[in-house]
Amino acid sequence: MKTHCTPGRTDQDAKARERAASAEHASPDQDLLDRRMARIGYKLLVMSGKGGVGKSTVAANLAIALSLAGKTVGLLDVDIHGPSIPKLMGLDAGRVVSDDEGVVPLEVGGNLKVLSIAFFLPSDRDAVIWRGPMKFNAIRQFLTDVNWGPLDFLVIDAPPGTGDEPLSVAQLTGKPAGALLVTTPQALAVADVRRSVAFCRQVDLPVVGIIENMSGLTCPHCGGRIDLFKTGGGQGLAEEMNVRMLGSIPLDPRIVTCADSGVPYIHRFAESPAAQAFMQVVNRITETLAPAEPSHR
Ligand code: ADP
Repeated sequence: MKTHCTPGRTDQDAKARERAASAEHASPDQDLLDRRMARIGYKLLVMSGKGGVGKSTVAANLAIALSLAGKTVGLLDVDIHGPSIPKLMGLDAGRVVSDDEGVVPLEVGGNLKVLSIAFFLPSDRDAVIWRGPMKFNAIRQFLTDVNWGPLDFLVIDAPPGTGDEPLSVAQLTGKPAGALLVTTPQALAVADVRRSVAFCRQVDLPVVGIIENMSGLTCPHCGGRIDLFKTGGGQGLAEEMNVRMLGSIPLDPRIVTCADSGVPYIHRFAESPAAQAFMQVVNRITETLAPAEPSHR
């Protein structure tokens, strides 16, 4: 995809160039990072324009859905300020170990590995005051140290918005990579995703597609549909921005209870409409992208 330079983004451009240069020249570990990333078939950066639209929920459930579809998957959480993946997956830092090859991601089921940058941060309080270059260095160090081994997909949960973390990931992971944009149907959220699409175009990260979350609720009493956050926002945006609509995930109160108890929803309620919708999104992703077999890497 072509990089589009838009007026008013020059600061970010300059920052991006500076960091790319520092990544190239200042890191003795660059080779190791490149080798680690080269073993990953496709990196999927899950983004949203704003918090609370279900980005982490979508990232976690998509990673599981990809693994259920037979793919070897890594789920990486780089949300320095508000990491949700450990809680969603019921994981804690105590189980993380290192060996001669690097940090060993936590295995969840046969072909899913998970790791959160939160496990390595000195404290939440320190991370909150980090400036851009510190975040970039922390993410680079983290990506360099973790030994994922061969993967078909690495699903990356980045913080909302278009700040330092998604920028760092887009610059450090290399290609092939693409973005999944999560939105709710509401016009307010959709406007934010427009900015994410512009960001992706600017950093030359292909947009794999849009996922509309919290898309309708089935009334438990009458079975009728309630469009709590309106309807059709994701589809309209996909058409407007010329990107693919990958699917709509309905609201399900059990997603909230699963998140609070650390039980992956899609495992627990595999037959639910939302779980089926996740599987459908995965089918569309794998149809669109066909990563090389990990054994070849
Ligand atoms: P984000 O990462 O965008 O901040 P989260 O994944 O943390 O959002 O989700 C925000 C809240 O919404 C959480 O309480 C989560 O359990 C809930 N949630 C997300 N998606 C759904 C859904 N489809 N149905 C019901 N609740 C959802």
